Amino acid sequence: MGYELTAEQLEWQAVAREFASRKLTPAKHWLEGEDFWKNAEMLSEHGFLGITLPEEYGGMNLDLFSAMLIIEELCKVCPTSGRMVYHTGPGIANFINHLGTPEQKSKYLPKIAAGKYYVALGMSEPDAGSAATDLKTTAVESGDYYKLNGSKIFVSEGHLADAFVVYARFGNSGKPSDIGAILVERGTPGFSVGVAEENMSGEYQTALYFDEALVPKENVLVTKNAFKALMGVYNGVRLGYAAQTLGIAQAAFDRTCQYVKERRQFGKEICEFQGVQWMIADMYLQLEAARTLLYKAAAEVLDSAIDKTSVSIAKVYVAEAAKKITDDCLQLHGGYGFSREYPLEWYYRCVRAASIAGGTVQVHKTMLAAAVLQRKFDQRK
Ligand SMILES: Cc1cc2nc3c(=O)[nH]c(=O)nc-3n(C[C@H](O)[C@H](O)[C@H](O)COP(=O)(O)OP(=O)(O)OC[C@H]3O[C@@H](n4cnc5c(N)ncnc54)[C@H](O)[C@@H]3O)c2cc1C
Repeated sequence: MGYELTAEQLEWQAVAREFASRKLTPAKHWLEGEDFWKNAEMLSEHGFLGITLPEEYGGMNLDLFSAMLIIEELCKVCPTSGRMVYHTGPGIANFINHLGTPEQKSKYLPKIAAGKYYVALGMSEPDAGSAATDLKTTAVESGDYYKLNGSKIFVSEGHLADAFVVYARFGNSGKPSDIGAILVERGTPGFSVGVAEENMSGEYQTALYFDEALVPKENVLVTKNAFKALMGVYNGVRLGYAAQTLGIAQAAFDRTCQYVKERRQFGKEICEFQGVQWMIADMYLQLEAARTLLYKAAAEVLDSAIDKTSVSIAKVYVAEAAKKITDDCLQLHGGYGFSREYPLEWYYRCVRAASIAGGTVQVHKTMLAAAVLQRKFDQRK
């Protein structure tokens, strides 16, 4: 399937671009603390939070494709803003929007869209990363509650979050069909959020600990036989991350195009050297290809059951291209690229995560090979 941007999508793209240039401060780091919440409020006032949520919950009811365009535009200037757009819309908030009860939607979605409440995702565990179905956290029925035991790791913005979508086992068959998800609010008895650990890009991640944590039954999103549905929603997170990565790579490229026309060595602008021209051309090709694959995946969305193959193709290509592009952009800035004065080194550190988060490149390539060869490769043999 191909794609074409509708007049409305083009308009959203232009609105986001104009908003980013007028209202967002060009960033060299992730926003934290008061800056984070002030920015959230401003994004919400301008209608950028919860964009894919229904209007009755404070959203805009936009399609995923429009959301990708907006995320990409905002990330070119301020990656924290683009990330907030996907977290509060097609990303984490979509677990509630797509799988939640009407009561859960009314309780959580309006405050998420207002930029006053943040939800993070607890799926990975110390011994269950790529092998997500090996997760051990259990949710056992106990009167009006589920009792949770176990732990999570690598939860992005866990230190900022008010609540968490937590994957857990609701049965003891040992099969993926036992896995469901439940909303756990900060402050729940028996639940604690670990120390915020800074990662390579300067973003914070936390562990989560469940020690007989008592979570009300009304917080259940899905119990059994829901792993496919959960991963369908997770594909929105993957594409949001890819749009963020593409926006950052484009920002690095735009700066670099400007720089090579200004920086002079050997008596001329460095863009006059063929070695530099070919690097620029290669980056341009990779950006065009990455964008095409991402937009194609976004256009193929049917509700949240996104075609897995196009998501994996987009995710792998965007991640690998962005890594190469930001590396080459840094290179073309020479020593200035390596310094903290310019944002190039941060862009490089930011996009590195895209080859790991949301499923590693290797795991997605295994899924692609299985689709191409029409074989199911058992990773355990
Ligand atoms: C920036 C960032 C943000 C994240 N945010 C979150 C979050 O908000 N919530 C959350 O739950 N998790 C989050 N994660 C965790 C992420 O989902 C995992 O790191 C990822 O799934 C990989 O798991 P792992 O780190 O345990 O690596 P492992 O699974 O241990 O993999 C180690 C290496 O082995 C390779 N490998 C493993 N299995 C195979 C295979 N079958 N074939 C070939 N190679 C294989 C991998 O590709 C990798 O290179 C985040 C990670 C990062 C880096």
